[in-house]
Amino acid sequence: MNIQEMIDEFLVCPKCKGKLEMSVINKMTAEGKPYESSILICRNCGVYYPIEDDIPVLLVDEAKTIEGID
Ligand SMILES: [Zn+2]
Repeated sequence: MNIQEMIDEFLVCPKCKGKLEMSVINKMTAEGKPYESSILICRNCGVYYPIEDDIPVLLVDEAKTIEGID
């Protein structure tokens, strides 16, 4: 089972219970260094959820709009 299959199987959007899609965005540290961060996108809701230390943070409060990251 690959990661995308695990996501499909076990992780759903907390808002709409829809499918999530894994992606990577570029972020900046507080010191201004760029780094890549994994996210889970819900196209239904138009939001994404962060993955912090390999743990998906599937909280509605943590959802961020995907506008501008595609
Ligand atoms: Zn959703």
